[in-house]
Amino acid sequence: MATYCGNAVSAPAVPVSSAPVDKPGEACGVFGVYAPGHSVAHLTFLGLYALQHRGQESAGMAVSDGDTITVVKDMGLVSHAFDERKLAPLQGHLAVGHVRYSTTGASNWGNAQPIYRGAGDAGIALGHNGNLVNTAELAAEAGVLPGTVTSDSDLVAELLQEAMVVEAARARSDGRELERALYQVLPRLRGAFSFVLMDDSHVVGVRDPNGFRPLCLGRLDNGWVLASETPALDIVGAHFIRELDPGEMVVIDASGTRSLRPFPPERVDPKLCLFEFVYFARPDSRLYGQTVHSARQRMGELLADQAPLLADIFRPERPSMVMPVPESGIPAAEGYARHSGIPFGHGLVKNRYIGRTFIAPGQEQRSQGVRMKLNPIRENIAGKRLVVVDDSIVRGTTTRAMVAMLREAGAAEIHLRISSPPYRWPCCYGMDTGSRAELLAADLTVTEVRDYLGCDTLAYLELDRLVAATEVAASGFCTACLTGRYPVAVSPDEEPGSCCSSPVVVPEPGGQPAGAPTLPGG
Ligand code: SF4
Repeated sequence: MATYCGNAVSAPAVPVSSAPVDKPGEACGVFGVYAPGHSVAHLTFLGLYALQHRGQESAGMAVSDGDTITVVKDMGLVSHAFDERKLAPLQGHLAVGHVRYSTTGASNWGNAQPIYRGAGDAGIALGHNGNLVNTAELAAEAGVLPGTVTSDSDLVAELLQEAMVVEAARARSDGRELERALYQVLPRLRGAFSFVLMDDSHVVGVRDPNGFRPLCLGRLDNGWVLASETPALDIVGAHFIRELDPGEMVVIDASGTRSLRPFPPERVDPKLCLFEFVYFARPDSRLYGQTVHSARQRMGELLADQAPLLADIFRPERPSMVMPVPESGIPAAEGYARHSGIPFGHGLVKNRYIGRTFIAPGQEQRSQGVRMKLNPIRENIAGKRLVVVDDSIVRGTTTRAMVAMLREAGAAEIHLRISSPPYRWPCCYGMDTGSRAELLAADLTVTEVRDYLGCDTLAYLELDRLVAATEVAASGFCTACLTGRYPVAVSPDEEPGSCCSSPVVVPEPGGQPAGAPTLPGG
C-alpha cells in the first residue's frame, strides 16, 4: 500500500531565490537512505541540511516503512520545512529527500520534491538534480496533455508511473517493477539527471550517462546512503564508498546494493559540471576523488602565476593585499596570496544571517542585495592596492556594486582576479544563469567587462589552468558555459529563452552535435 501525506497546510509565498552575489543558482540536492534500525527521517533531515547550499526554495522527504510511503515537503529551508513534530511520526527504514532550486517549473509547493506517484498498489517517490533537455519531445511522445506535468521532474515521475502500471499488469510481481520501469524510461531521457527514487522497499540512485551532477554512495553500520555530495555522508556518519559512475544505477534493498547499467554504453561519456569544482559544490566535498577546497586553492595559485599584480614603481611604499569576495572566493584568494607572496587579508564581511532566499531576482534588488550581504572593513582597505579574488562573475551587477563599495571605502586600486574563464553561455543542465543576454561576458571583451565593473585591472583564469587545478582530465568535464560546446544536444522545440536562448552553439569536438539549446529542468 502507498499513501500520500502532503504537508499542504503551510505554503508560504517564499521569494524566488536568486543566486547570491553574481553566481549561477544551484542545482538541487538529493539524498537517499536505506537503513533498518535507524531513524531514516532524521538522517534525511541531516543529509538535506548538509546539501542546503544546493537549493533553498523547498525541502522534502519521502519515508517508507515497507508498506506506506509518506511524503512531507514545504517551501523554504530545511529547518523551516522540518522540525521534531514533523519528523517524529515519519517511521520507516528507507527514505529519499530533496532540496530544490527551481530551474523549470514555478517555485511553489506543488513543485517541491520528492514527487509522489501512485501506480496500482505501489507508489514511487522521486527527487531530481539536473535538467532534462528533451522534455517537450518526451511529453509529446508520451501524449502528455499540456498542463498535466509542471516540470521535467514531474514528467519523469509520470513516465515512470505509466511504466510501473504496465509492469504490474504483466503479473510478474517480484517487487522489481520500479527497476524495470526505470530500464524503460531512463534511456529516453536526455540531459542532466541525478535521481534518487524509492518504492516501498527499494531506494535507487541514478546518474545520467554524462554524470553532469554528482552522486555518491556511502555505508552506514546497517545501511546505505546516497547523496549529491560527500559532506552529506559525513554528517550522518556514513563512510564514503564511491561516486556513482556516469550512467550507473544503484539499487538498494534488504539484500544490499546492486549496480546496474540501464543506458547504452555508447551514450556514456563523463562530463561532470566544471562549475561544481569552481563554485557549486561545498569546499569539503570530494569530486572525481579530489577535494574541492584544495582544487580551488590551486586555481588561485595558477591565477597568481597567470595574472600577477605588477609592482607600482612610482609608489612602491603603497601596501598590497589579496582579499577574497566572501565566502566563495576564499580558497582561491588563499592560493593567490600563497603563490604571489602578497599578504592575505579580509576587506569585506559577509552578513551570514541573510538567507539566500532574501535576495530577490530583479537587477535593482540585486544591487541592494550586495549591500545587505557585504560590508567593507575600511581600515583594511583604505589606501591599499587590492587584489580582489572571486570564483566567477555571471551577471556582473553585484560585482560592480562591490567594486564601487571598495572604492568608497578608500581602496587605492582594485585588481579583480576571477578563478574561472568568462561565463559566456547559458547552462542547459541544471544551473540557473538566465538567458545569454543576461550574462555580462557574453558579448564583451575582458577590457569592456573591466570598464563596466570599474576595476583597475581584470583577469580571468584560463580554461586549461582551471582544469589543471582540478587534477582531472579535461575530457571529463562539461565546459559549455565557458566554451559554448554543449555535450548533449538540446531539442529545438524546448521552451525558448528559459536557459539557452542563443541559437549559436559550437559542436563538441568528437561529441554529439549540439542543437540550439533551450530548456532547463527541475
Ligand atoms: S554549462 Fe557550465 S554550469 Fe552548466 S553543467 Fe556545463 S559547466 Fe556546469
